[in-house]
Amino acid sequence: MPSDPQVVPVSIEGTRYDITIRPGLLSDVGRILAQLTNSRRAGMVTDSHVGPFYLNTVTESLHEVGIEPIVATIPAGEDHKTLAELAPVFDALLSARIERSTPMLAIGGGVIGDMTGFVAATILRGVPFVQVPTTLLAMVDASVGGKTGINHAVGKNLIGAFHQPIAVLIDPAVLQTLAPRELQSGLAECIKHDIIRDAEGFERLERDITRALALDLDYLTQLIAHNVAIKARVVEADPFEKGERAHLNFGHTFGHAIETVSRYSYSHGECVALGMTAAARLAADLGMIDESARCRIVSVIERAQLPVRGMSLPAKDVVDAMIYDKKVRGGKVRFVLPDRIGHVVIRDDVPPSAVTRAIESLGG
Ligand code: NAD
Repeated sequence: MPSDPQVVPVSIEGTRYDITIRPGLLSDVGRILAQLTNSRRAGMVTDSHVGPFYLNTVTESLHEVGIEPIVATIPAGEDHKTLAELAPVFDALLSARIERSTPMLAIGGGVIGDMTGFVAATILRGVPFVQVPTTLLAMVDASVGGKTGINHAVGKNLIGAFHQPIAVLIDPAVLQTLAPRELQSGLAECIKHDIIRDAEGFERLERDITRALALDLDYLTQLIAHNVAIKARVVEADPFEKGERAHLNFGHTFGHAIETVSRYSYSHGECVALGMTAAARLAADLGMIDESARCRIVSVIERAQLPVRGMSLPAKDVVDAMIYDKKVRGGKVRFVLPDRIGHVVIRDDVPPSAVTRAIESLGG
């Protein structure tokens, strides 16, 4: 018998939907979709890595309830998150004469979720959207909040729309085929969520985070439910990023700069890990947290097998990248910093020397 699912309700700007998490859920996608829509067809977008693992299971589950999928496969990876790759997807869907009621399913990581969401937001001026995220990052982060989009040569995620899904269906068992480095990327976001919002959750991470690396499905189910709940509460309070949603940028101000200067040789999760480590150092140097809280943060990041030191990038280049980003955004560099574990504040008055010291501390 399958175990009971974890269900996290989300309610954003008048739309309400459930995020359901259960190992084995993939073979139930058709049955759940049939409860949500009367459509006899569904668009289905996946990528070239995920499709061979999971497309058959989802397709069979749709056939069982009489839903015919219109499948589009995009080459895997961030490089393909482009308008050019979406042209054949729009062609296939429009040639099949989909209707306003035809749902779009995203089966893949954050790239496929964002791209499919963008198709769902724009085709026929908006059709229902269902997310089936298959990376830990997409499960705990990208699938919550309704941001969709694609990249442009000028920058990442510059073309997009807010479009909330009608359901998010998460099967933690699919993480068994995910590369360990991708799993660790998702764990970086889980650590972030507890540092910004939940001291008790952080204590559980200290105790149990290695169970995630061991792919303990009971633990992963609880972990994902806990994290989508945190992200959902933040997004519900600030759906259009006017205020507290900025807390989700904890570790990302440093992290994005490291990502740029390293020319993406670190993964996104590794940059966030280094960024959180630098932010914890900065908060300690500013007297906002004590040394023991800083060490606890660093130690959890290390236990997730994410980097906390050994970065050889020049601190000046990282600072310059942060300042460039600030100019692009037309404001001061704003740091999200903990004043205790489970709580953060935004500071835009941090002395440049302290920022440099925090980056240099990653070199040790
Ligand atoms: P991704 O979608 O590129 O997936 C990473 C890799 O894992 C890919 O090669 C993919 O094919 C493969 N993969 C996915 N699931 C797998 C599985 N179960 N088994 C085997 N391989 C699998 O990357 P990601 O880290 O999931 O997402 C990153 C993207 O998410 C970025 O484009 C980012 O902008 C976006 N994002 C969006 C939001 C949002 O709020 N919309 C939030 C965070 C990130």
